[in-house]
Amino acid sequence: MREMQTISENTRQPAAHMPIPGHIDPVPVPREVTPREDGKIDLIGLPRKQIADIFAEAGLDAKAAKLRAKQVYHWLYHRGVTEFEAMTDIAKTMRPWLAERFVIGRPEIVEAQVSNDGTRKWLLRTADKHDFEMVFIPDADRGTLCVSSQVGCTLNCRFCHTGTMRLVRNLTPGEIVGQVMLARDSLGEWPKAGGTMAGLDFDDDDSEAEDDGIYTADGRLLTNIVMMGMGEPLYNFDNVRDALKLVMDGDGLALSKRRITLSTSGVVPMMARAGAEIGVNLAVSLHAVTKEVRDEIVPINRKYGIDELLQACADYPGASNARRITFEYVMLKDKNDSDDDARELIRLIKQYNLPAKVNLIPFNPWDGAAYECSTPERIKRFAEIVFAAGISAPVRTPRGRDIDAACGQLKTSAEKKSRAELDRLAEEKQAALG
Ligand code: SAH
Ligand code: SF4
Repeated sequence: MREMQTISENTRQPAAHMPIPGHIDPVPVPREVTPREDGKIDLIGLPRKQIADIFAEAGLDAKAAKLRAKQVYHWLYHRGVTEFEAMTDIAKTMRPWLAERFVIGRPEIVEAQVSNDGTRKWLLRTADKHDFEMVFIPDADRGTLCVSSQVGCTLNCRFCHTGTMRLVRNLTPGEIVGQVMLARDSLGEWPKAGGTMAGLDFDDDDSEAEDDGIYTADGRLLTNIVMMGMGEPLYNFDNVRDALKLVMDGDGLALSKRRITLSTSGVVPMMARAGAEIGVNLAVSLHAVTKEVRDEIVPINRKYGIDELLQACADYPGASNARRITFEYVMLKDKNDSDDDARELIRLIKQYNLPAKVNLIPFNPWDGAAYECSTPERIKRFAEIVFAAGISAPVRTPRGRDIDAACGQLKTSAEKKSRAELDRLAEEKQAALG
């Protein structure tokens, strides 16, 4: 997409204070947030307690800071207001005090596109001018927002376009929750006082939602979130966790954790913490069932192999038949799509006794990719074999292809890399493996 070309320039420039971690097992590096030029503090991304602390620092006494923080928090995350003037239960004189010191940020929209199938894609920009993407996929019974966790990715799965970019930086909690808030802005889905949250079914036992708002959608509702945009969420653990906490909080965005899915390429050491500290559904980008093939297409496999990964899945807190782990499996012609591969997949799932379903994803090709998508007949056959073993194996329908919006393959850069260039990049990254 020509309009998207601007991104490549940005994504190749590492931010000054973001050391690029190693390629296979990068240590998440906390990045300082670039201070705003106007000296104001952006409240989006901050939890209630931190808002209270900065209100106190700004001069309110402890009790007032706490009360104001509670009110402001509600307006920010539950009502989605973008101006302090709209906070009607805060004294009129107090509102300018807030506006002088703080802002209510949203990622900047560089471009918004709508596909002929209703899929929407946004090209977004951070305050320090790094571009990333977000996609909304409406279905008959749900609307799924595909959220990015990083600009670029340190890993380089060979079929993934994001993998050809370098990591620019982690997104902050504000930039992550900001994506969901922006989507609600665009879809007109903030609750208004006095109704019920029609359309959102909180099918869990935690009843995190407050029943005091009504959603007015301009079509379909944003009901689900998948951390499947750009980046590896478990290499930006703290920020992803903090953002999702705001999303799940009943007085925040109030989206049930059962409707949120985090997808990882297999950062084994972080998986238990993800279960314990975030507790959302888990999706694992498996994509291959032999060491040889997975080493090639999902290189983190050289660090954390298939057995370790599946053991971590078996240990994932909260996994059960009611909450199965999703294995993503991209269908690559003559690479991972044979009958034997399907049978090995079944064997592995049974060996580890995993409550699992398999999402078969037709490979979404991009210029310079080393693979082709399996034929529809092959995908069908593969799905049948897995399904016959009692494992659900839906084939994911490609969406938004006309706007390059395939979830997980956010084709941010239209920059055309030559095959040679891609090979050199892969070699470089491999050399870093040691
Ligand atoms: N980094 C995380 C989450 C983002 S990728 C992860 O790897 O799981 C989200 C999903 O999209 C992953 O399963 C990824 O493997 C898949 N994906 C990436 N590129 C793709 C492509 N070209 N075609 C189809 N699926 C792709
Ligand atoms: Fe990164 Fe996920 Fe793409 Fe792999 S598939 S390069 S982990 S975004």
